[in-house]
Amino acid sequence: MSTTWHILGAGSLGTLWAARLARAGLPVRLILRNQTRLASYQSAGGLTLVEHGETRTYPVIGETPDSQEPIHRLLVACKAYDAEAAIAQLQQRLVPNVELILLQNGLGSQDAVAAQLTQARCLFASSTEGAFREGDWRVVFAGHGYTWLGDAAHPTPPLWLDDLHAAGIPHAWSTDILTRLWRKLALNCAINPLTVLYQCRNGGLQDHHCEVATLCAELSELLECCGQPAAALDLQDEVERVIHATAANYSSMYQDVANARRTEISYLLGYACHAATRHQLNLPHLQQLQVRLVDELLARGLPRD
Ligand code: NAP
Repeated sequence: MSTTWHILGAGSLGTLWAARLARAGLPVRLILRNQTRLASYQSAGGLTLVEHGETRTYPVIGETPDSQEPIHRLLVACKAYDAEAAIAQLQQRLVPNVELILLQNGLGSQDAVAAQLTQARCLFASSTEGAFREGDWRVVFAGHGYTWLGDAAHPTPPLWLDDLHAAGIPHAWSTDILTRLWRKLALNCAINPLTVLYQCRNGGLQDHHCEVATLCAELSELLECCGQPAAALDLQDEVERVIHATAANYSSMYQDVANARRTEISYLLGYACHAATRHQLNLPHLQQLQVRLVDELLARGLPRD
């Protein structure tokens, strides 16, 4: 009998994972915020995933955090700023050797969770898959991609990677997951805040080549200083490639701001600036970018963190 996949957060990525695991016949349970959200979910009749224009509903079982069933494997699919508190509510239900898969973007939330659960195995994920919510309990699978999983403390892959294979979730085990997370963070810092400040698609940054190059130089210095030289390699080339390849797209931060949603700034640019301060590195353009971005968020009535 397979171990149940408890999925915390039925948003874009949570739904994407839950639907694919469930359709492969694997046991899945969704943990929703509270009774109100559970009632709303139950009246919708399940999770709806729209993929290649086809719509299918998966009647995955839902529950609230105070349900009694022990949790052996938890996929954490909340935003970075919600992860720690959402997991804390489940503390009583986590078995001592529970495995957590942390899907959060950026850095900082993973360490906060790991520090809270010293006996748990915390696996980190970095994904290039893309999905968005079209409404409550309805998600569009917008961008096919790949998910790298790794455990900064133990290099051995877990046996349940077979479940991901069965579910058709493209993935690979990574022995350098921190390098991947740092690299993704650096790409994000070089692109996303500027798309908010210039109110443009990613391609619009081709008009701000010098500013992007200066940020890449500072980010590379930061990565080297934080013991991540591999994440710094040819950073500017990759940033330029991404800007070109995704020219027509709006960045995730742009979309959050456009939809008046809280951003994950504290786990991206905020984390980078904090790391620079900790290492007494002077990175004036990066620090100035943070000031400009926070000003923009405040001007729009959005949280600064
Ligand atoms: P999302 O659509 O906003 O979903 C987050 C979900 O977490 C929401 O359903 C929210 O509940 C739920 N949640 C928050 N606190 C909770 C709690 N205490 N108990 C139960 N549920 C709780 O976010 P997302 O886009 O899937 O992103 C999740 C993470 O993946 C982020 O760090 C993001 O950067 C990363 N990521 C996303 C994508 C993507 O394409 N979406 C791609 C790569 C990485 P409500 O529904 O009640 O608000």
